[in-house]
Amino acid sequence: MLYRSWSRFVARLVLLVLVVLFLGLVTGQWLAVTMLTLFAFVAWQIYNNWKLHQWLANSERTPPESLGIWSDIFDQIDRLQKQNKNHRAMQKATIDEFMGVTNAFPDASLVIDDKDSITWFNDAARELLRLRNSTDQGQPVTNLVRDPDFANWLAVQDHINSQLEMPCPHDQNIHLAVSAVRYREGQRLIVFRDVTDIYNLEKIRRDFVANVSHELRTPLTVLLGYLESMQGQCPEDLLPAINKMRGQADQMHALLNDLLELSRLQSEEHSPIDQDLDVPAMLAQLQELALELSQGAHQVQFDVDTALWLRGNPADIESAFRNLIQNAIYYTPEGGEVTVRWSLVDKNPVFSVQDTGHGVPHRDIPRLTERFYRVGSDRSRERGGTGLGLSIVKHVLNAHQARLQINSELGEGSTFSCVFPSSRNVQKT
Ligand code: ADP
Repeated sequence: MLYRSWSRFVARLVLLVLVVLFLGLVTGQWLAVTMLTLFAFVAWQIYNNWKLHQWLANSERTPPESLGIWSDIFDQIDRLQKQNKNHRAMQKATIDEFMGVTNAFPDASLVIDDKDSITWFNDAARELLRLRNSTDQGQPVTNLVRDPDFANWLAVQDHINSQLEMPCPHDQNIHLAVSAVRYREGQRLIVFRDVTDIYNLEKIRRDFVANVSHELRTPLTVLLGYLESMQGQCPEDLLPAINKMRGQADQMHALLNDLLELSRLQSEEHSPIDQDLDVPAMLAQLQELALELSQGAHQVQFDVDTALWLRGNPADIESAFRNLIQNAIYYTPEGGEVTVRWSLVDKNPVFSVQDTGHGVPHRDIPRLTERFYRVGSDRSRERGGTGLGLSIVKHVLNAHQARLQINSELGEGSTFSCVFPSSRNVQKT
């Protein structure tokens, strides 16, 4: 098409030159004929340029009529404009569709930039978080979602990649689960999901477990007291039965204690008391406990950075570290090694317990922190394990924005590491 138009244009030009030559030859007025022809040619070009300009200035109109190459140029521009219009209509339809979907999305969603300022939000965010189009776009999200936990979580979310649960800033009866994804450099999508129903059910379940555990503890303490005094006085033939009862009662006691500890950690009133924690001193005490538990059966080694303290809750952190050390001793056969480390790794305070024990099959690792999940149930029960230790560890770490890393090889050993955010690092000189 293009080739044909231009060959026709060139043919017409050649014809024009021949006509000029002929007229020049016949009249002998070369200059006048050439000037006249050039003038007519330039005028024709200017006239068509003018028509093109007029048309482009008001492109709604139909393309102007013309002859030769100009007619083709007008047609081609007209076609390109129509294509462009179609593309724009398709893009608009896609954007409208996307906006429709995001606005129909029941979860409040918003996008923030690398300065945490809001660049976009949907209808649900407008309602749930009371955002307004006119004033709130471009504002830092922490100015509009006012919650210290949210601000702390947002600051470390990129590194810990966990969910946050928080009450809705405008209505404490609504409970929200917040998650975020970085979908492009400098852009994060934050989703606030209303989980009030699940939260209330979970609360009922928690309260029930806490109440039952509490109610059972008193009669159990009485039973344990009687069993203890009977152990010293009963006839010889009853002693095995009494000892067995005592063992079972002790196990039940440990279970109730762990259940109560878990409820305490999960309760709303429990907010971690943050203070500068002398972890090296705490580990010195835990080292004594480890040696006592091991009774010389293991090589227990502590490798502690004495200048490294932690911002956290002393009782909770002690409980988590104790659980991990106890597990390492219990699940490592005699002659094995247990190494406890406390140091900075890439600016993050890390507590790790490495053992050369039984190890855990890979498929079980993701489930270890579930309540009552045991890998070798017999082995765990034999030593009075409750199956709740690692759940407690996970709760404590969550409350400190830390994560639990588990590396284990069956038959070779395991390493359980608690990785704290760098913001909790305290250096003592
Ligand atoms: P338990 O009271 O049974 O030890 P935990 O929650 O502390 O409960 O641990 C859950 C399960 O994880 C244990 O039953 C055990 O099978 C496994 N486990 C925990 N720590 C270790 C370890 N250091 N080595 C091997 N297995 C472990």
